[in-house]
Amino acid sequence: MGVLDIVPTGVLTGDNVRKLFNYAREHGFAIPAVNCTSSSTINAALEAARDVKAPLIIQLSQGGSAFYAGKGLSNDGQRASILGAVAAAHHVRTVAKDYGVPVVLHSDHCAKKLLPWFDGMLDADEEYFKVHNEPLFSSHMLDLSEEPKDENIALCKTYLQRMAKMNLLLEMEIGITGGEEDGVDNTGVDNNRLYTQPEDVWDVYRELIQVSDLFTIAAAFGNVHGVYKPGNVKLSPHLLKKHQDYVREKLGTQQEKPIWFVFHGGSGSVKKEIEEAVSYGVIKMNVDTDTQWAYWEGIRNFYEAKKDYLQTQVGNPEGEDKPNKKYYDPRVFIRDAEKSMVNRVKEACRDLGNVNRL
Ligand SMILES: [Zn+2]
Repeated sequence: MGVLDIVPTGVLTGDNVRKLFNYAREHGFAIPAVNCTSSSTINAALEAARDVKAPLIIQLSQGGSAFYAGKGLSNDGQRASILGAVAAAHHVRTVAKDYGVPVVLHSDHCAKKLLPWFDGMLDADEEYFKVHNEPLFSSHMLDLSEEPKDENIALCKTYLQRMAKMNLLLEMEIGITGGEEDGVDNTGVDNNRLYTQPEDVWDVYRELIQVSDLFTIAAAFGNVHGVYKPGNVKLSPHLLKKHQDYVREKLGTQQEKPIWFVFHGGSGSVKKEIEEAVSYGVIKMNVDTDTQWAYWEGIRNFYEAKKDYLQTQVGNPEGEDKPNKKYYDPRVFIRDAEKSMVNRVKEACRDLGNVNRL
């Protein structure tokens, strides 16, 4: 039995997201959430998922959404970020089924100061829900990890109440996913700031479950956003197991892994640590930095290989009057960027065990 025996292709919402995440947790794999900023990057991510026969999460950040709408638009009041996220969502909904893969359509980190963006997307979800009986997106992320814990949880709960009416899933973050300098204390001792405590996870669970079971938790276990020199970060995935055990005990349930965990800041992680995190109930890992590099590398390699054909519109080593159109056409060099990104998304899928799952 594969994923397509329990959910359809195309954008999933509500119960289908629940089924997919439960399936991933039970079968010990996680789904990459690829940050996309354009139709080109969305298509590349979908192509990779199709090729490895796996489900996919496509996510839009606040900045990525504004870029999708166009950097020439004003983003006053988060207007461009709202429009871009909605436009990207419609793009995904239009093409995803033809790629033959199930897709979770998600919005990425939203800090407190960006809440108008979040509200605008929820407005679009509600409008879509009226017509289609499901939200436009599958899920949204609220990142209030910089706020005091009680405020973080209370605001997440309030938003989840609005979202639960549409069967939308909420991703929340507790504990700080850091960006520490060299030479931090990496002895693996629990640290309140960089390592979320089991009590914190339980506090989140206890409050949110009163509203809906459609929520995921990004807990900090030494992870860092962005790039860093290898070896400078001490990940402690075993903490996720501690959280699962703690919540299971509190609940008095037999269920081994009651929580759906999300892995932020996974770029450059050692494969073994990723595998370990997945074994403790991580069902989603964010992928951004590495696919950005892949996209750029595709263009760079194309330029290096075709340099002599890319200096003028006409004239290359084959003759002074030879046209270069087939080299500078964006469909040619952007396609190379896409191919490179496709390969990197496939690699992320392999790292997470997300291959041949359909
Ligand atoms: Zn985060």
